[in-house]
Amino acid sequence: MNYIKEREIAVQAVVEAAALCQQVRSQRVDEAIAKEDKSPVTIADFGAQALICRALAAAFPQDPVVGEEDSNALTDPAQAAKLAQATEFVQAAVPTATTADVIDWIDHGNGAVAQRYWTLDPIDGTKGFLRGDQYAVALALVEDGDVKVAVLACPALTLDLGSDQSLGENSSSGVLLVALRGQGATCRNLGGGPERKLSVTRPEDSAHFRFVESVEHGDKALQQKIAQGIAMTQPAIQMDSQAKYAAVAAGQAALYLRLPSPKTPDYREKIWDHAAGALIVEEAGGRVTDMHGQPLDFSRSARLTDNQGVIVSNGTIHDTVLALLNE
Ligand code: AMP
Ligand code: MG
Repeated sequence: MNYIKEREIAVQAVVEAAALCQQVRSQRVDEAIAKEDKSPVTIADFGAQALICRALAAAFPQDPVVGEEDSNALTDPAQAAKLAQATEFVQAAVPTATTADVIDWIDHGNGAVAQRYWTLDPIDGTKGFLRGDQYAVALALVEDGDVKVAVLACPALTLDLGSDQSLGENSSSGVLLVALRGQGATCRNLGGGPERKLSVTRPEDSAHFRFVESVEHGDKALQQKIAQGIAMTQPAIQMDSQAKYAAVAAGQAALYLRLPSPKTPDYREKIWDHAAGALIVEEAGGRVTDMHGQPLDFSRSARLTDNQGVIVSNGTIHDTVLALLNE
């Protein structure tokens, strides 16, 4: 399998969804609805899930999609205005879309993990999206428990895109990262243009190694201690969403630590918060495991039931980090 069609459809859908998110954010129309677990959801989350599920359902009707959102909050009559707004934003990409279509497309994303499935976070880091900080649109194809295709849009992230003979040094705000298993990872401007191959930090840059962590989640005190243990003297860079994986894949950070918060020690990570980012970092030459050194197991359910915490690194420092955690 070369996954050419999967890559093409996924890239097109994620770019379309990221444009919707940026439109919602630039128009400041968004007021979040609280979900049952109290976490926020916006019309951009719904719109992005609708667009991506629509594209996947058309191209790969047999594939289940395990997405973060469902239409419950949106079909509540009290939220009719939100449904209308979400539909309007979807219509910018699909002029014929009706409110019923939007609900159907969102709920196409309520599939179950199978031998082959897609997993989708239409807005990863919704809190960052609302705050004007980092967020991501994350889509991955999983087969036999392995992530095969990963597409990650980070509309607010700036990455160095390398030098171009005609343009000189070139950095882009708003980036798209893509990886196919065994074929490397690339990044480009969300609006198009040349692709740059991604690679993690080089060992000779170790004096400048930084680490990234979540704004909201994790065991900040222990993370700081581990980083100091590998001579990272600068404080963590805090970012929402899988933009942290992008930072490691692009060599902006050498390490991403996500240790269980003392407040939620039994938390099990959601697959859509990690699948796309994990393949991108691995294909950029890095390593991804849980805090016990086990590979992330995407074959079981919507949660990583057998994993605890997540450690993402440039590869070379990984074993040292695991050893420090064991102490
Ligand atoms: P981040 O932007 O890195 O903070 O990650 C956001 C994601 O954290 C959300 O999409 C949630 O799925 C996930 N999440 C929610 N509660 C927890 C928790 N207690 N520990 C770790 N992750 C969580
Ligand atoms: Mg999310």
